[in-house]
Amino acid sequence: MGTNQARLASSNTSTTFDVQLFIGGRWEKAVSGRTFDSFNPATGEKLATIQEAAPEDVDRAVRAARRAFAEGPWPRMAVAERSRILNRIAEIILQRKEELARLETLDTGKSIRESLEVDIPRAAHNFQFFADFIKHSASECFPLDDRALSYVVRQPVGVAALITPWNLPLYLTTWKVAPCLAAGNTCVVKPAELTPLTAARLAEIGQEAGLPPGVLNVIQGFGPEAAGEALTRHPDVNLISFTGETTTGRAIMAAAAPTLKRLSFELGGKGAAILFADANLDEALPIAQRAAFQNQGEVCLAGSRLLVERSIFDEVLERMTAAAKNIRLGDPLDPATEMGSLISEEHWQKVSGYVELARREGAQILCGGGRPPHLARGNFFLPTVIAGLQPNSRVCREEIFGPVVTVLPFRTDEEAVAIANDTPYGLSAVVCTSNLQRAHHVAGQLECGTVWINCWLLRDLRAPFGGFKNSGMGREGGQYSLDFFTEAKTVCVKL
Ligand code: NAD
Repeated sequence: MGTNQARLASSNTSTTFDVQLFIGGRWEKAVSGRTFDSFNPATGEKLATIQEAAPEDVDRAVRAARRAFAEGPWPRMAVAERSRILNRIAEIILQRKEELARLETLDTGKSIRESLEVDIPRAAHNFQFFADFIKHSASECFPLDDRALSYVVRQPVGVAALITPWNLPLYLTTWKVAPCLAAGNTCVVKPAELTPLTAARLAEIGQEAGLPPGVLNVIQGFGPEAAGEALTRHPDVNLISFTGETTTGRAIMAAAAPTLKRLSFELGGKGAAILFADANLDEALPIAQRAAFQNQGEVCLAGSRLLVERSIFDEVLERMTAAAKNIRLGDPLDPATEMGSLISEEHWQKVSGYVELARREGAQILCGGGRPPHLARGNFFLPTVIAGLQPNSRVCREEIFGPVVTVLPFRTDEEAVAIANDTPYGLSAVVCTSNLQRAHHVAGQLECGTVWINCWLLRDLRAPFGGFKNSGMGREGGQYSLDFFTEAKTVCVKL
């Protein structure tokens, strides 16, 4: 095991990790000497001691990224070579899939099945995708009669700050790092303080794959008045790609305003899954269940409001409840476990608070609502199905980010659309119907960035991804990501 690996590896026979900052191709301690701890959400046991970056560490990381951008080979490298290194990162991620999946599960509490089948393969795919994409991208040319030719050159922007949340740590970090580096930028990554492990591994993998020093820096620490905020205020950061809560997006926008940074935000969601009576229920119900409960419901794209046409409402409620009761919760490292633990005690309290609020508002809690009796420790929360709420209640309009689904009836297409749109968010929705005309019509009316018809979470990475309203700003995916991570320069030649 190399030195850098050892820094993150288990420091003794129990599983505790020592996580350092990766700056300019070296593993570093925080200048202040401060550290913080992270905990395994499923057991409450200490998992890692992490160097806590302060503004002076952020400055060191930004300076390293700037040096690599101004003087290093990365922005000037032939596209084929850059693509080769990004593909190599993907290969190493896949070679180390088991180890990365285990780390992701230890950090987040999600099931190992989820980490192995979803998170880590997607992380590798993010790199493969952009490694290929840059080899095939072209630019525009505008001939002005026979007088002039304007052509567009896309150049990297500079130093990017990439700030990510805890629910899909490596999946979302790589979704930013891959296009950022593919376009020739350098970056400073700040993962969520609750899930530091896989971002640190990514730094190590990047180095092994041949990224020059300073191209990918990873700092660890907190958000407000800490490393995150220092990064967003830093005058030498050119652009910020952020995924997280809407309120954090607002704070970042304000912090970045004085230095006019380019911003891309992927924020919260409160997706509706709309089930029409003409849908094939045997296919639609598993979609609705996955949309509600996958990854403990800690998914921005969750279909956490299930809207059901009145004539099938009772049957759907019954079958949804039965399915929720069947989901196997347990040790996240057990391959048989279907649902793991919520991320933290604080988050458990937040989710539980929404169920209590629903109770006070007279809702029926059809199943779940609290801790599973067989799991005494950890932040486990039973899949919960709630009916009997008003569509405009707080529980139905605010993001809960847990395994809680509210089920509401509707009578007409117009009513379904009105309920679905009645939230400050606009990230995604699901429509289940066998009527093609209805599917297209309803999709056209929904105020959100992605509509899935008879499916959920099926992603073509070329397609734009992002939110309407309070769910975000800008789009990620294929050319949309490359547009964000490049400056378009027009060169006009007189003929
Ligand atoms: P969060 O906003 O609390 O934190 C996200 C990141 O921002 C963390 O790294 C955090 O340290 C940092 N941060 C916090 N305050 C900051 C500040 N003032 N300045 C700079 N950085 C700061 O979000 P979270 O709780 O980690 O994640 C859950 C949220 O993320 C949910 O709202 C979810 O919907 C959203 N999310 C959205 C998408 C999407 O694609 N739209 C995907 C996943 C998660």
